[in-house]
Amino acid sequence: MRMQRARLFAATAGTVSVLLTVPAAAVDTSSGAPGIGDVYYPDYGNGGYDVSHYDLRLKYEPASDHLEGTATILATPKHDLTRFHLDFALDASAVQVNGREARYATSGSHELVVTPPAGLRAGQPMNVLVRYSGTPSTVKIDDLMPWQRTTDGAVAANEPEMAWWWFPSNDHPLDKATYDVSIAVPDGTKAISNGVLARTTRQFGWTRFDWRMSQPQATYLATLAIGKFDLRTATTKSGLRMVTAYSDNLGSSAGAAKASVERTGEVIDWESGVFGPYPFDAAGGYVPQTNARFALETQTRSFYSPAFFARGSNLYVVVHENAHQWFGDSVSVASWRDIWLNEGFATYAEWLWSEKQGEGTAQQLADFTYASHPASSPFWKVKPGDPGKGNEFHESVYDRGALALQALRNSVGDAVFFRILRDWVAAKKHGNATVAEFLQLAEKVSGKQLDELFQTWLYTPSRPQARPAAPASRLALGAPVKPRSWEQIHRTHGHLHGTR
Ligand SMILES: [Zn+2]
Repeated sequence: MRMQRARLFAATAGTVSVLLTVPAAAVDTSSGAPGIGDVYYPDYGNGGYDVSHYDLRLKYEPASDHLEGTATILATPKHDLTRFHLDFALDASAVQVNGREARYATSGSHELVVTPPAGLRAGQPMNVLVRYSGTPSTVKIDDLMPWQRTTDGAVAANEPEMAWWWFPSNDHPLDKATYDVSIAVPDGTKAISNGVLARTTRQFGWTRFDWRMSQPQATYLATLAIGKFDLRTATTKSGLRMVTAYSDNLGSSAGAAKASVERTGEVIDWESGVFGPYPFDAAGGYVPQTNARFALETQTRSFYSPAFFARGSNLYVVVHENAHQWFGDSVSVASWRDIWLNEGFATYAEWLWSEKQGEGTAQQLADFTYASHPASSPFWKVKPGDPGKGNEFHESVYDRGALALQALRNSVGDAVFFRILRDWVAAKKHGNATVAEFLQLAEKVSGKQLDELFQTWLYTPSRPQARPAAPASRLALGAPVKPRSWEQIHRTHGHLHGTR
């Protein structure tokens, strides 16, 4: 199996479409396809159309966990369609396509199959309206129940599955779109989503929050949080709209949470200097009162479990989630197999922050990480470049993934390494990317053959023979030392970061 994967990688470098094309025999194109062709999750997303915008007008009652609303989806068929799929798990009560009632049926665990009264023509914009309602916390699919209820509301933040529980979509990072999320909640309760808070209005005991995400966003990065929050808005000197929010019930973690997340602007300024211009017009983060054990880079508004701040402030998790705004959110995976492009890079951003803080250089962290896992450790069995379905958030993807970047940095030198990072986020801004494309770009910018280095660090299911060699000028003397930041860094990823 691993040989096959290795060959696949080598053979498809530069020919992304090969990886994404659904075998023709599996698809009746006029019916759309129930999946977009993901290697790990063949039924995620849908084929046959491309969404440009989601308009969600919702109402949520915290006491009963009742969500109801209307989704208006602007999309364009890629070829003539007689029907198409949406990913969705709540109950639809009406569906219209271009203003006319459409037939609909559920299929499988999370598919809504829509049959419009007339065929849809390739390239002709369509609008799809879905009225729906449900109790998201009661919906269990393949043992997944990602909708989090809190004492005073709920949170939608999970990866890769989340959208099914609150809006119909083409649920795969390959189909990004802009969003307007308008949600009414009982007066005194607040609702948070991505982007800019465009307006709040009050009527008949309900307060409506209108959020706008004006840059393309992957479906899993859309977030929603309802509850009693200390909601703070500000505009930075550079015009970035900053929104942070903290549950009123964070208890003893409230101070540490605010002391960390309120520094988001400073973190983004530093990351902009390293990676290039921040890709969105809003930023921030929120900390709800939830028992979840992870943080997530929900676009422009990262979700943080209070667990990250239970033992004091934690800038590393803020660095990690905001690095994802470049690596993951702006440059999104083409397939879930490419998850190293998100997690390896966000982890490496933590190492760079540590270096900047004088709490241990990236080389020291690399040395320590390599030495921490003996050759017999299962850590080395998971290949960061192709971790396997369900292993996307294995610590190897994070820590060995960052080791791979240190190996690259040592191979090409600092100046070229940071140019590769900046060229990468510029070339793929608001798009999708594969690991093979990153290798190509790194080789182009550096003028070096790097496939062996990538093979060693990303695609070999065993411990590489030597740690990433430090250039002579940075050679650490003696055994790897434990950097001071290690404990803190360790808490920001691994099981605490991912959902599985
Ligand atoms: Zn991450």
